[in-house]
Amino acid sequence: MSQPDSTADLVALGQQRLLPVYRQRPLILDRGQGARLWDIEGRDYVDFSAGIAVCSLGHNDPDLVAALAGQAGRLWHTSNVFYSEPPLRLAEELVAASRFAERVFLCNSGAEANEAAIKLVRKWAAAQGREPSRRVIVTFRGSFHGRTLATVTATAQPKYQAGYEPLPGGFRYVDFNDATGLEVAMAGGDVAAVLVEPVQGEGGVTPTAPGFLRTVRELCDHHGALLVLDEIQSGMGRTGTLFAHWHDQVEPDVVTLAKALGGGFPVGAMLAGPKVAQAMQFGDHGTTFGGNPLAAAVARVALRKLASPALLANVSRQGAALRAGLQAMGRGLFSQVRGRGLMLGAVLAPAHAGRAGELLDAAAAQGLLLLQAGPDVLRFVPPLSITDAELADGLARLERALAAL
Ligand SMILES: *Cc1c(COP(=O)(O)O)cnc(C)c1O
Repeated sequence: MSQPDSTADLVALGQQRLLPVYRQRPLILDRGQGARLWDIEGRDYVDFSAGIAVCSLGHNDPDLVAALAGQAGRLWHTSNVFYSEPPLRLAEELVAASRFAERVFLCNSGAEANEAAIKLVRKWAAAQGREPSRRVIVTFRGSFHGRTLATVTATAQPKYQAGYEPLPGGFRYVDFNDATGLEVAMAGGDVAAVLVEPVQGEGGVTPTAPGFLRTVRELCDHHGALLVLDEIQSGMGRTGTLFAHWHDQVEPDVVTLAKALGGGFPVGAMLAGPKVAQAMQFGDHGTTFGGNPLAAAVARVALRKLASPALLANVSRQGAALRAGLQAMGRGLFSQVRGRGLMLGAVLAPAHAGRAGELLDAAAAQGLLLLQAGPDVLRFVPPLSITDAELADGLARLERALAAL
Protein backbone atom coordinates (compact mmCIF):
# COMPACT_ATOMS: atom_id res chain seq x y z
CA MET A 1 0.00 0.00 0.00
CA SER A 2 2.62 2.47 0.98
CA GLN A 3 4.19 4.39 -1.88
CA PRO A 4 7.60 5.96 -1.84
CA ASP A 5 7.37 9.29 -0.01
CA SER A 6 4.01 8.51 1.56
CA THR A 7 3.22 10.02 4.92
CA ALA A 8 3.99 6.68 6.58
CA ASP A 9 7.40 6.41 4.87
CA LEU A 10 8.41 9.93 5.84
CA VAL A 11 7.19 9.52 9.41
CA ALA A 12 9.23 6.31 9.62
CA LEU A 13 12.26 8.21 8.30
CA GLY A 14 11.82 10.81 11.02
CA GLN A 15 11.53 8.16 13.68
CA GLN A 16 14.65 6.46 12.43
CA ARG A 17 16.95 9.34 11.57
CA LEU A 18 16.13 12.33 13.77
CA LEU A 19 17.28 12.50 17.35
CA PRO A 20 14.12 11.42 19.18
CA VAL A 21 13.81 14.60 21.25
CA TYR A 22 10.36 15.40 19.85
CA ARG A 23 7.18 13.36 19.52
CA GLN A 24 5.75 14.69 16.25
CA ARG A 25 2.25 13.86 15.07
CA PRO A 26 2.10 11.51 12.07
CA LEU A 27 1.53 14.11 9.37
CA ILE A 28 3.86 15.85 6.95
CA LEU A 29 3.17 19.56 6.47
CA ASP A 30 3.78 20.78 2.97
CA ARG A 31 2.59 24.34 2.44
CA GLY A 32 0.74 27.16 4.15
CA GLN A 33 -1.32 30.24 3.48
CA GLY A 34 -2.35 32.63 6.23
CA ALA A 35 -3.43 30.63 9.27
CA ARG A 36 -3.95 27.48 7.21
CA LEU A 37 -1.60 24.60 6.41
CA TRP A 38 -1.84 21.61 4.10
CA ASP A 39 -0.12 18.26 4.48
CA ILE A 40 1.28 16.19 1.61
CA GLU A 41 -2.02 14.35 1.31
CA GLY A 42 -3.89 17.61 0.75
CA ARG A 43 -5.60 17.69 4.17
CA ASP A 44 -5.95 21.18 5.56
CA TYR A 45 -5.30 22.39 9.09
CA VAL A 46 -6.08 25.59 10.95
CA ASP A 47 -2.86 26.67 12.61
CA PHE A 48 -3.31 27.83 16.21
CA SER A 49 0.40 27.14 16.89
CA ALA A 50 2.17 29.34 14.31
CA GLY A 51 5.37 27.32 14.60
CA ILE A 52 5.41 28.09 18.35
CA ALA A 53 4.44 31.77 18.17
CA VAL A 54 6.85 32.37 15.29
CA CYS A 55 4.75 32.75 12.12
CA SER A 56 2.93 35.79 13.45
CA LEU A 57 2.15 37.10 9.97
CA GLY A 58 0.82 33.71 8.94
CA HIS A 59 2.31 31.48 6.29
CA ASN A 60 3.45 32.69 2.90
CA ASP A 61 3.08 36.39 3.67
CA PRO A 62 3.77 38.08 0.31
CA ASP A 63 5.86 40.91 1.80
CA LEU A 64 8.10 38.50 3.73
CA VAL A 65 8.47 36.31 0.64
CA ALA A 66 9.43 39.36 -1.43
CA ALA A 67 11.95 40.51 1.18
CA LEU A 68 13.58 37.08 1.31
CA ALA A 69 13.59 36.56 -2.44
CA GLY A 70 14.91 40.08 -3.08
CA GLN A 71 17.77 39.65 -0.64
CA ALA A 72 18.48 36.09 -1.84
CA GLY A 73 19.36 37.49 -5.26
CA ARG A 74 21.80 40.07 -3.82
CA LEU A 75 23.81 38.84 -0.85
CA TRP A 76 23.33 36.02 1.65
CA HIS A 77 26.09 36.32 4.16
CA THR A 78 29.11 38.40 5.03
CA SER A 79 29.78 37.42 8.70
CA ASN A 80 29.75 40.21 11.24
CA VAL A 81 33.35 41.04 10.42
CA PHE A 82 31.97 43.10 7.53
CA TYR A 83 28.96 45.40 7.33
CA SER A 84 26.00 44.89 5.06
CA GLU A 85 22.97 47.16 4.98
CA PRO A 86 20.04 44.98 6.23
CA PRO A 87 21.34 44.33 9.78
CA LEU A 88 22.34 48.00 10.19
CA ARG A 89 18.84 49.12 9.25
CA LEU A 90 17.24 46.43 11.40
CA ALA A 91 19.29 47.47 14.44
CA GLU A 92 18.29 51.12 13.95
CA GLU A 93 14.62 50.17 13.55
CA LEU A 94 14.66 47.93 16.65
CA VAL A 95 16.24 50.71 18.72
CA ALA A 96 13.55 53.14 17.58
CA ALA A 97 10.72 50.68 18.13
CA SER A 98 11.95 49.62 21.58
CA ARG A 99 11.68 53.09 23.20
CA PHE A 100 14.59 52.23 25.52
CA ALA A 101 17.47 50.50 23.74
CA GLU A 102 20.63 52.14 22.43
CA ARG A 103 22.32 49.12 20.87
CA VAL A 104 21.44 45.70 19.50
CA PHE A 105 23.19 42.34 19.26
CA LEU A 106 21.73 40.18 16.50
CA CYS A 107 21.85 36.40 16.74
CA ASN A 108 20.03 33.31 15.47
CA SER A 109 17.69 32.14 18.21
CA GLY A 110 16.08 32.85 21.54
CA ALA A 111 18.56 30.81 23.51
CA GLU A 112 21.39 32.76 21.94
CA ALA A 113 19.72 36.08 22.74
CA ASN A 114 19.35 35.05 26.39
CA GLU A 115 22.87 33.62 26.46
CA ALA A 116 24.10 37.03 25.26
CA ALA A 117 22.02 38.74 27.96
CA ILE A 118 23.46 36.48 30.67
CA LYS A 119 27.00 37.18 29.49
CA LEU A 120 26.22 40.91 29.28
CA VAL A 121 25.01 40.92 32.89
CA ARG A 122 28.20 39.17 34.02
CA LYS A 123 30.46 41.57 32.10
CA TRP A 124 28.59 44.58 33.44
CA ALA A 125 28.86 43.29 37.02
CA ALA A 126 32.52 42.37 36.57
CA ALA A 127 33.30 45.87 35.31
CA GLN A 128 31.89 47.22 38.58
CA GLY A 129 34.37 45.10 40.50
CA ARG A 130 31.77 42.62 41.75
CA GLU A 131 33.19 39.23 42.69
CA PRO A 132 31.81 36.27 40.66
CA SER A 133 29.78 35.23 43.71
CA ARG A 134 28.01 38.59 43.61
CA ARG A 135 26.83 38.27 40.00
CA VAL A 136 23.74 36.17 40.73
CA ILE A 137 20.89 36.17 38.21
CA VAL A 138 17.42 35.59 39.65
CA THR A 139 14.85 33.75 37.51
CA PHE A 140 11.37 32.43 38.25
CA ARG A 141 9.91 28.97 38.70
CA GLY A 142 7.94 27.94 35.64
CA SER A 143 10.09 30.08 33.36
CA PHE A 144 11.57 29.05 30.04
CA HIS A 145 14.69 30.72 28.69
CA GLY A 146 16.19 28.19 26.26
CA ARG A 147 18.10 24.95 25.93
CA THR A 148 21.79 25.89 26.04
CA LEU A 149 23.48 25.00 29.32
CA ALA A 150 23.31 28.53 30.71
CA THR A 151 19.76 29.23 29.51
CA VAL A 152 18.48 25.82 30.66
CA THR A 153 19.94 26.68 34.06
CA ALA A 154 18.13 30.02 33.94
CA THR A 155 15.00 27.99 33.11
CA ALA A 156 13.77 27.22 36.62
CA GLN A 157 12.07 23.93 35.78
CA PRO A 158 13.73 20.67 36.87
CA LYS A 159 12.40 18.66 33.91
CA TYR A 160 14.55 20.64 31.46
CA GLN A 161 17.69 20.29 33.59
CA ALA A 162 17.62 16.67 34.74
CA GLY A 163 20.69 14.74 33.62
CA TYR A 164 22.60 17.78 32.36
CA GLU A 165 24.39 18.47 35.61
CA PRO A 166 26.87 19.92 36.35
CA LEU A 167 25.00 23.11 35.51
CA PRO A 168 26.61 26.56 35.46
CA GLY A 169 26.40 28.41 38.77
CA GLY A 170 25.13 31.84 39.64
CA PHE A 171 21.37 31.40 39.25
CA ARG A 172 18.73 31.68 41.99
CA TYR A 173 15.05 30.76 41.65
CA VAL A 174 12.02 32.52 43.07
CA ASP A 175 8.31 31.68 42.76
CA PHE A 176 6.68 33.51 39.86
CA ASN A 177 4.76 36.62 40.93
CA ASP A 178 6.11 36.32 44.50
CA ALA A 179 7.27 39.86 45.35
CA THR A 180 8.16 38.97 48.93
CA GLY A 181 10.20 35.97 47.78
CA LEU A 182 12.07 38.22 45.37
CA GLU A 183 12.76 40.75 48.09
CA VAL A 184 14.26 38.01 50.25
CA ALA A 185 16.30 36.62 47.35
CA MET A 186 17.81 40.05 46.68
CA ALA A 187 18.34 41.10 50.28
CA GLY A 188 21.97 39.91 50.38
CA GLY A 189 23.02 42.40 47.70
CA ASP A 190 24.62 39.71 45.52
CA VAL A 191 22.07 39.85 42.68
CA ALA A 192 23.26 41.40 39.40
CA ALA A 193 20.05 40.91 37.43
CA VAL A 194 16.51 39.62 37.41
CA LEU A 195 15.47 37.80 34.24
CA VAL A 196 11.72 37.46 33.70
CA GLU A 197 9.13 36.77 31.00
CA PRO A 198 6.26 39.34 31.06
CA VAL A 199 4.01 36.37 30.26
CA GLN A 200 5.44 32.92 30.98
CA GLY A 201 4.99 30.89 27.80
CA GLU A 202 6.20 27.29 27.92
CA GLY A 203 5.63 27.23 31.67
CA GLY A 204 1.83 27.56 31.36
CA VAL A 205 0.92 30.87 29.67
CA THR A 206 0.88 32.78 32.94
CA PRO A 207 1.00 36.58 32.91
CA THR A 208 2.86 38.55 35.53
CA ALA A 209 0.42 39.77 38.19
CA PRO A 210 -0.67 43.43 37.93
CA GLY A 211 2.13 45.59 39.33
CA PHE A 212 4.63 42.74 39.62
CA LEU A 213 7.01 43.99 36.91
CA ARG A 214 7.02 47.43 38.53
CA THR A 215 7.94 45.85 41.85
CA VAL A 216 10.73 43.92 40.15
CA ARG A 217 11.98 47.16 38.58
CA GLU A 218 11.95 48.92 41.99
CA LEU A 219 13.82 46.07 43.68
CA CYS A 220 16.38 46.05 40.87
CA ASP A 221 16.91 49.79 41.25
CA HIS A 222 17.18 49.48 45.02
CA HIS A 223 19.82 46.73 44.82
CA GLY A 224 21.74 47.96 41.78
CA ALA A 225 20.59 45.05 39.61
CA LEU A 226 19.56 44.96 35.97
CA LEU A 227 16.07 44.14 34.74
CA VAL A 228 16.24 41.72 31.81
CA LEU A 229 12.96 40.92 30.06
CA ASP A 230 12.67 37.76 27.99
CA GLU A 231 10.15 38.85 25.34
CA ILE A 232 11.08 36.04 22.99
CA GLN A 233 7.52 34.70 23.03
CA SER A 234 5.54 37.63 24.43
CA GLY A 235 7.11 40.29 22.21
CA MET A 236 6.55 41.39 18.60
CA GLY A 237 2.86 42.17 19.08
CA ARG A 238 1.79 38.84 20.56
CA THR A 239 -0.04 40.42 23.52
CA GLY A 240 -1.53 43.33 21.57
CA THR A 241 1.35 45.78 22.04
CA LEU A 242 4.70 45.49 20.27
CA PHE A 243 6.32 44.58 23.61
CA ALA A 244 4.36 42.92 26.42
CA HIS A 245 6.06 45.02 29.11
CA TRP A 246 4.41 48.15 27.68
CA HIS A 247 1.24 47.01 29.46
CA ASP A 248 3.13 47.49 32.74
CA GLN A 249 4.94 50.71 31.89
CA VAL A 250 8.31 49.58 33.13
CA GLU A 251 11.62 50.43 31.49
CA PRO A 252 13.90 47.40 31.16
CA ASP A 253 17.71 47.40 30.85
CA VAL A 254 17.79 44.48 28.42
CA VAL A 255 15.13 42.83 26.25
CA THR A 256 15.58 39.61 24.31
CA LEU A 257 13.64 38.78 21.16
CA ALA A 258 13.49 35.89 18.71
CA LYS A 259 10.50 33.71 17.67
CA ALA A 260 8.28 36.13 15.67
CA LEU A 261 11.11 38.58 14.94
CA GLY A 262 11.84 36.90 11.59
CA GLY A 263 8.28 35.77 10.89
CA GLY A 264 9.62 32.23 10.47
CA PHE A 265 13.17 33.02 9.37
CA PRO A 266 15.56 32.25 12.25
CA VAL A 267 16.82 35.41 13.96
CA GLY A 268 17.17 36.69 17.51
CA ALA A 269 18.14 39.96 19.13
CA MET A 270 19.32 41.34 22.42
CA LEU A 271 18.38 44.99 22.94
CA ALA A 272 20.59 46.87 25.39
CA GLY A 273 19.60 50.06 27.21
CA PRO A 274 21.89 52.94 28.24
CA LYS A 275 23.30 51.27 31.39
CA VAL A 276 24.66 48.28 29.49
CA ALA A 277 24.96 49.31 25.84
CA GLN A 278 28.75 49.55 26.20
CA ALA A 279 29.26 46.70 28.66
CA MET A 280 30.56 44.38 25.94
CA GLN A 281 33.45 45.66 23.87
CA PHE A 282 35.54 44.48 20.91
CA GLY A 283 36.12 40.73 21.12
CA ASP A 284 33.79 40.16 24.07
CA HIS A 285 31.10 38.28 22.14
CA GLY A 286 30.23 37.23 18.62
CA THR A 287 28.37 34.99 16.18
CA THR A 288 29.10 33.85 12.63
CA PHE A 289 25.55 33.86 11.30
CA GLY A 290 23.73 36.23 13.66
CA GLY A 291 21.68 38.87 11.87
CA ASN A 292 22.89 37.92 8.42
CA PRO A 293 21.50 39.84 5.43
CA LEU A 294 18.77 37.27 4.69
CA ALA A 295 17.52 37.17 8.29
CA ALA A 296 17.74 40.94 8.71
CA ALA A 297 15.99 41.74 5.42
CA VAL A 298 13.05 39.56 6.44
CA ALA A 299 13.00 40.80 10.05
CA ARG A 300 12.85 44.44 8.92
CA VAL A 301 9.62 43.75 7.06
CA ALA A 302 8.26 41.58 9.88
CA LEU A 303 8.96 44.34 12.41
CA ARG A 304 7.25 46.98 10.29
CA LYS A 305 4.16 44.83 9.78
CA LEU A 306 3.96 43.53 13.38
CA ALA A 307 4.18 47.08 14.75
CA SER A 308 1.36 48.36 12.56
CA PRO A 309 -1.78 49.62 14.34
CA ALA A 310 -4.01 47.52 12.07
CA LEU A 311 -2.24 44.29 13.02
CA LEU A 312 -2.19 45.14 16.73
CA ALA A 313 -5.91 45.96 16.59
CA ASN A 314 -6.46 42.54 15.04
CA VAL A 315 -4.63 40.94 17.98
CA SER A 316 -7.03 42.57 20.43
CA ARG A 317 -10.05 41.70 18.35
CA GLN A 318 -9.14 38.06 17.68
CA GLY A 319 -7.76 37.62 21.18
CA ALA A 320 -11.11 38.63 22.65
CA ALA A 321 -12.97 36.33 20.24
CA LEU A 322 -10.67 33.39 21.01
CA ARG A 323 -10.98 33.93 24.75
CA ALA A 324 -14.76 34.16 24.53
CA GLY A 325 -14.92 31.06 22.33
CA LEU A 326 -12.79 29.04 24.75
CA GLN A 327 -14.76 30.21 27.75
CA ALA A 328 -18.02 29.27 26.04
CA MET A 329 -16.94 25.76 25.08
CA GLY A 330 -14.72 25.06 28.04
CA ARG A 331 -17.40 24.61 30.68
CA GLY A 332 -16.33 21.71 32.83
CA LEU A 333 -13.20 21.06 30.77
CA PHE A 334 -11.27 24.29 31.40
CA SER A 335 -10.94 25.78 34.86
CA GLN A 336 -9.47 29.03 33.53
CA VAL A 337 -8.57 30.84 30.33
CA ARG A 338 -5.61 33.13 30.91
CA GLY A 339 -3.00 35.12 29.02
CA ARG A 340 -2.93 38.28 26.96
CA GLY A 341 -3.87 39.16 23.37
CA LEU A 342 -3.24 36.13 21.17
CA MET A 343 -1.13 34.35 23.78
CA LEU A 344 -3.77 32.37 25.65
CA GLY A 345 -3.75 29.28 27.82
CA ALA A 346 -6.76 27.12 28.65
CA VAL A 347 -6.11 25.38 31.95
CA LEU A 348 -7.60 21.90 32.19
CA ALA A 349 -9.90 21.39 35.15
CA PRO A 350 -8.57 19.02 37.83
CA ALA A 351 -10.74 16.17 36.54
CA HIS A 352 -8.92 16.43 33.19
CA ALA A 353 -5.41 17.15 34.51
CA GLY A 354 -2.60 15.66 32.43
CA ARG A 355 -4.73 15.25 29.30
CA ALA A 356 -3.26 18.08 27.18
CA GLY A 357 -1.34 15.69 24.92
CA GLU A 358 -4.46 13.63 24.27
CA LEU A 359 -6.41 16.79 23.41
CA LEU A 360 -3.70 17.88 20.97
CA ASP A 361 -4.00 14.52 19.18
CA ALA A 362 -7.78 14.88 19.03
CA ALA A 363 -7.43 18.43 17.67
CA ALA A 364 -4.96 17.36 14.97
CA ALA A 365 -7.36 14.59 13.94
CA GLN A 366 -9.97 17.33 13.38
CA GLY A 367 -7.52 19.47 11.40
CA LEU A 368 -6.44 21.89 14.12
CA LEU A 369 -2.82 22.38 15.15
CA LEU A 370 -2.49 23.25 18.83
CA LEU A 371 0.29 23.41 21.41
CA GLN A 372 0.43 22.60 25.07
CA ALA A 373 2.29 24.40 27.86
CA GLY A 374 2.88 21.56 30.27
CA PRO A 375 0.52 18.59 30.75
CA ASP A 376 -2.41 20.69 32.00
CA VAL A 377 -2.57 23.73 29.70
CA LEU A 378 -3.62 24.08 26.05
CA ARG A 379 -1.69 26.92 24.46
CA PHE A 380 -3.18 29.15 21.75
CA VAL A 381 -0.69 31.26 19.78
CA PRO A 382 -2.17 31.61 16.27
CA PRO A 383 -0.82 33.99 13.64
CA LEU A 384 -1.53 37.58 14.71
CA SER A 385 -2.93 38.16 11.22
CA ILE A 386 -5.58 35.46 11.66
CA THR A 387 -8.94 36.38 10.08
CA ASP A 388 -12.43 36.11 11.59
CA ALA A 389 -13.18 33.14 9.33
CA GLU A 390 -9.96 31.29 10.19
CA LEU A 391 -10.50 31.81 13.90
CA ALA A 392 -14.12 30.66 13.76
CA ASP A 393 -13.08 27.59 11.74
CA GLY A 394 -10.39 26.75 14.30
CA LEU A 395 -12.82 27.07 17.20
CA ALA A 396 -15.34 24.84 15.40
CA ARG A 397 -12.64 22.21 14.88
CA LEU A 398 -11.70 22.42 18.54
CA GLU A 399 -15.32 21.92 19.52
CA ARG A 400 -15.50 18.81 17.32
CA ALA A 401 -12.25 17.51 18.86
CA LEU A 402 -13.62 17.96 22.38
CA ALA A 403 -16.89 16.27 21.38
CA ALA A 404 -14.97 13.34 19.91
CA LEU A 405 -13.19 12.65 23.20
C1 LIG B 1 11.23 29.83 22.80
C2 LIG B 1 11.74 30.62 23.92
C3 LIG B 1 13.12 30.70 24.19
C4 LIG B 1 14.14 29.93 23.41
O1 LIG B 1 14.16 30.27 22.06
P1 LIG B 1 14.88 29.30 20.99
O2 LIG B 1 14.80 30.08 19.72
O3 LIG B 1 14.10 28.04 20.97
O4 LIG B 1 16.26 29.09 21.47
C5 LIG B 1 13.51 31.51 25.23
N1 LIG B 1 12.63 32.19 25.97
C6 LIG B 1 11.31 32.14 25.74
C7 LIG B 1 10.38 32.94 26.58
C8 LIG B 1 10.81 31.33 24.73
O5 LIG B 1 9.51 31.26 24.51
